[in-house]
Amino acid sequence: MARLSNKSGVDEKGQRTPRSTDVYMPKEGMKEVSYCRKCGVIYRQKRWMMDPDELARIKSDPASGKIICPACLRMQDGVPGGFLTLAGEYLRQHEVEILELIKNTEAKARLKNPLGRIMEIRQEGDVLTILTTEEKIAQKLGRDMFKAHRGELRFHWSHGDNAVRVEWSRS
Ligand SMILES: [Zn+2]
Repeated sequence: MARLSNKSGVDEKGQRTPRSTDVYMPKEGMKEVSYCRKCGVIYRQKRWMMDPDELARIKSDPASGKIICPACLRMQDGVPGGFLTLAGEYLRQHEVEILELIKNTEAKARLKNPLGRIMEIRQEGDVLTILTTEEKIAQKLGRDMFKAHRGELRFHWSHGDNAVRVEWSRS
């Protein structure tokens, strides 16, 4: 958790909006072209992308950097950047299609931002909690749920841990 609390200083000064991935961004040893040893995401020109052909080429180049990407680091540490909770009677009746929508939304979002991922889906009583690596993907999942299934959608920002909590429910 030390990495997270370090970042709050930047937040308080208001110099920039804290982004959940920043705290997990490799700070040193980031080469021009790097790839994640765990998931194979490529980092180049300050952008992250998935490209299997390109990855094979980059791996064979000894000049390429090897890193663990922010998404994999968060998964490794078990520190989510976003939470989406789903609750209500409606959820129980439509659980299969709702989970389908969550997975499709994640897959589509990953094409644009390969660091926004679902870490885990937890069932606690009648509440499903979806833990994500970034806040943006948690918000997107919540918005897509609202678009497709209406109900109620709320966002809670907590300054302490740089994570967003999105709550969706429908009775
Ligand atoms: Zn990775």
